[in-house]
Amino acid sequence: MQESQIAVVTGGAGFIGSHMTDRLLQAGYAVRVIDNLVGGRVSNLAHHARNPLLSLEECDICDLQPDSSIFKDVRYVFHFAGIGDIVPSIEQPIEYMATNVQGTVRTLEAARHGGRSTLQRFVYAASSSCYGLAATPTREDYPIQPQYPYALSKYQGEQAVLHWGQVYDLPVNSMRIFNAYGPRVRTTGAYGAVFGVFFRQKLAGKPYTVVGDGTQSRDFIYVTDVVEAFYMAAQSPHVGEIYNVGADNPQSILYLVELLGGNVNSGDVIFIPKRPGEPDCTWANAGKIIHQLGWQPKVTFETGVQTMLKDIENWRDAPLWDPDSIAKATATWFQHMDKK
Ligand code: UDP
Repeated sequence: MQESQIAVVTGGAGFIGSHMTDRLLQAGYAVRVIDNLVGGRVSNLAHHARNPLLSLEECDICDLQPDSSIFKDVRYVFHFAGIGDIVPSIEQPIEYMATNVQGTVRTLEAARHGGRSTLQRFVYAASSSCYGLAATPTREDYPIQPQYPYALSKYQGEQAVLHWGQVYDLPVNSMRIFNAYGPRVRTTGAYGAVFGVFFRQKLAGKPYTVVGDGTQSRDFIYVTDVVEAFYMAAQSPHVGEIYNVGADNPQSILYLVELLGGNVNSGDVIFIPKRPGEPDCTWANAGKIIHQLGWQPKVTFETGVQTMLKDIENWRDAPLWDPDSIAKATATWFQHMDKK
């Protein structure tokens, strides 16, 4: 029998990374997950516990060496490891730059050496936050305007990835993910990620904390669609490319409340101040990925939300946010960004 091809997934115990791992195992790859288990959880991969094709290496990408054995003979690298969230990035910019930029450089070097004669593709999880307050629908060649250190660090990570493509001929692609959501989306940690916030509030029977007037919209994209985009970017002949990964179909926050069963007119909602630097609308122009890779989002917003609601109990232990605790958690945000 032919030996399985090797794929490395950094951050493979995290939200999107664990779904990537599912997809690769399903396709018959031997998957080596690297995760420091800070944001990621072993339970995200528990359903593969007996699968000999999966290995989990508990390690930090900042400690990777170019000769790391994890990358030996690797065919595909999917690089999701990094740190997210806006507020902590404003408070600890050094950590964000170290992990998301330098950690990416270390991952690139390990891939370059370990995959010397085998590497087919290095696919980077970039962030649509690099566009800042952009014109919409946003194309890949629109101006880059990071609004906070997280966005800057993910963008500089992307620059490193493309640079390794240019200088070392590494076959790379970068995927600018819009608002990914789906099962296993983070339930703990810093304030942010609207799904976790609202699900916990729903479970507690507390009002949804809607920012601004709730008419702002996000181009939400379901996690399995994101993963399929990465998979296709690894298989396609296109290299050195940047792709938006969004549904090209923004949804308002009030509509999300409605899908969760909330009624704005009967006290289910409490409005909290709009956050400076936050776009009113994120909206991917997905023309490039559709035409070049033949990718199409398959899961509608309505279906995605319903699927997540089936597992709402997973949010029982998540932090319960209210206007006061949100005001405290976002104080630094307002302090540094409210300059206009
Ligand atoms: N949002 C909200 N209430 C919350 C948290 C978020 O109304 O308690 C809104 C926020 O204004 C934004 C959207 O939900 O329009 C997505 O926010 P998230 O923090 O998930 O992602 P972002 O797009 O801001 O990175």
